[in-house]
Amino acid sequence: MSLIPLIVQLQPFTLFVFPQEPYISERTLKFHHDKHYTKYVANTQSMIKGTDLENQDLVNIVKQSYSQKNLNLFNNAAQCYNHEFYFKCMSPNPKKISKTMETAIEKSFGSYDEFKKQFSAASTSLFGSGWVWLVSDKKGGKLEIMKTANADTPLTMNKKCLLTIDVWEHAYYLDYQNMRQTYVDNFIDKLINWDFVEENYKQ
Ligand code: MN
Repeated sequence: MSLIPLIVQLQPFTLFVFPQEPYISERTLKFHHDKHYTKYVANTQSMIKGTDLENQDLVNIVKQSYSQKNLNLFNNAAQCYNHEFYFKCMSPNPKKISKTMETAIEKSFGSYDEFKKQFSAASTSLFGSGWVWLVSDKKGGKLEIMKTANADTPLTMNKKCLLTIDVWEHAYYLDYQNMRQTYVDNFIDKLINWDFVEENYKQ
């Protein structure tokens, strides 16, 4: 699967459906992409119609709606961004973590196991709905783990997004019910697209 450059136009991102039973099912991905994500795209499109933001790219829409405190638009636009990013963080054929990312992670967290422990703990301790991210402060910079609530996104916090997991219940409930921990562990061990993470790290 080739990587599509992240978001230039606000169009529904067509998900290459890649169920990886039993870690994430086609049913989960279809509901998530076709119902949840597509609704955020439609809402955003209707809210920007006829405004200055109509032909802007999605990153600008997210940043401007945030700085203008247009919360309704921000929530929908940020969810478009967060979801497209999340879908691209998973691969149908995940490869082992690359040497570059392994080195960067060891430099920032001490070891891969420590990164995994912290990413997993952040994901399971996030109360309610939200996202957990691996971010850096600049190209090739120091890595850190961030939690954001609801639609909040590191995009508005001057951070570079490298990896995210959606921990809203709709992301895992059909496959895992209330067992968020198992979803998170399987995401880390079986689903992460490290090529995408590395591409973001080098950008
Ligand atoms: Mn979601």
